Amino acid sequence: MKLADLFTKRKAVFSLEVFPPKKSGSIETIYDTLEALEGLRPDYISVTYGAGGNLADNSTLEIAQKIKNRYHIEPLAHLTCVNSSREQVQKSLDRLEKAGIENILALRGDMNPELPPRLEFHYASELIGTIRAHGGFDIAAACYPEGHPECDSLEQDVEHLRQKVEMGATHLITQLFFDNADFYRFLELVRKKGIDVPIQAGIMPVVNKKQIERMVSMCGASIPASLSKIMNRYGASPEALRDAGINYAISQIIDLLSNSVEGIHLYTMNNPYVARKVSGSIASILECENE
Ligand code: FAD
Repeated sequence: MKLADLFTKRKAVFSLEVFPPKKSGSIETIYDTLEALEGLRPDYISVTYGAGGNLADNSTLEIAQKIKNRYHIEPLAHLTCVNSSREQVQKSLDRLEKAGIENILALRGDMNPELPPRLEFHYASELIGTIRAHGGFDIAAACYPEGHPECDSLEQDVEHLRQKVEMGATHLITQLFFDNADFYRFLELVRKKGIDVPIQAGIMPVVNKKQIERMVSMCGASIPASLSKIMNRYGASPEALRDAGINYAISQIIDLLSNSVEGIHLYTMNNPYVARKVSGSIASILECENE
């Protein structure tokens, strides 16, 4: 199913994100994770893609295919372009199509200081154009409620976002954020600029202080005082921090749903316990939204 159709049917879409196991790990470990996530009945599951653009590493495709064929859940395959040639991207698209994948999250990918970009694709909008020209896929793209860290201003970043939608992105997923006010401000700006495709809020429960500090330093999301207090107070107790982080994320989601957000995208970090806790606490609210 094309995800654009899903957004016409559901008032509030609920999706999960997983990542392939590290190169050193076994691919089988992800199937244990998926087994545990299956019961949460997400509308779709997205699978991240290594920015290296290594065609030999087919794990995103393999996992997306299993999500579709074994678990009968719609997959969204991430695809980055910054380190890929045009030929590699065409091959990836052919493979994805052959595997029956219908939805792609088109990304530039993060710049890797140890891997100079190939300069055949500079921005995600160019990848979106290539995917559209290929045909056969529904295209999603990333957006940034606090602005992308490389961009001088949020306004300018939203201009670039408009290009992604003009090139063919039919739905957007936000970077993680911890202050819903940032999301509402962003949404207002985006709608004012005429971007009218559905936008899913990306939510990541804070369950590990180090992990979140690393994520935040990479993506530039800010930590509000209320969350900072939680992290400082419970940082030394993994269980207390996990429970407080899960509850923080649940409060964020309930506020977003009651303010008519078009979807929630949960960054699961391949942690079924956390995904189960969050999803269990919002199940009846989602049901009520989608009645
Ligand atoms: P772009 O949209 O190309 O934007 C990158 C920067 O270029 C921005 O600052 C933008 O303002 C600027 N820009 C865009 N167009 C122009 C233009 N015409 N002129 C000048 N500047 C311009 N990374 C991975 O490696 N693998 C993943 O699976 C992955 N999944 C993600 C999922 C989500 C939901 C999100 C939010 C991010 C994900 N990322 C992933 C991270 C992403 O690759 C990085 O955030 C990356 O730095 C930007 O990707 P993008 O597609 O948003 O880039």
